[in-house]
Amino acid sequence: MVITPDTKNWTWVLERPCPECGFDAAATSFDEVPGMLRANADAWQQVLARPDATQRPDGSTWSALEYAAHVRDLCRVYRRRLELMLETDGAEFADWDQDATAVSEGYGKQDPARVAVELAAEAEATALAFAGVEPRQLAHRGLRSDGTGFTVDSLARYFLHDAVHHLWDVRLR
Ligand SMILES: [Zn+2]
Repeated sequence: MVITPDTKNWTWVLERPCPECGFDAAATSFDEVPGMLRANADAWQQVLARPDATQRPDGSTWSALEYAAHVRDLCRVYRRRLELMLETDGAEFADWDQDATAVSEGYGKQDPARVAVELAAEAEATALAFAGVEPRQLAHRGLRSDGTGFTVDSLARYFLHDAVHHLWDVRLR
């Protein structure tokens, strides 16, 4: 089974509420990000404990396990981006091919219990990193290799939406 890569540019989520998961970046303050990330990580623990966590619902949709492994790595990638932007105002970072990573890292074959532990640790480290940002650093800029520009402030909410949206992806219907 091949998953079609998600090539959409998601930066519009900073401008208006997401019609799918309901995340509203404009209504979310930077200071709320660490707490919301921790709550998100807690919810993933329940998702990964489901008996069908490793099952793909259909041929073109990731399993809950694959989404969780992605969110774990998302935390790591965005923490690194944050570090770069805090060090250097205007830092550049490579775009991340999340679909290639899912295949190369074998997300679907990982152990759900281990992913749960790793996701909790990565989310906590990333929550601490965002919580440690000083107000004067919020305007530090970063540039993704596809030309998309972020500030520390917008990066935090862009990243948080990704985690929230994936929890919506695996909601019980
Ligand atoms: Zn969304």
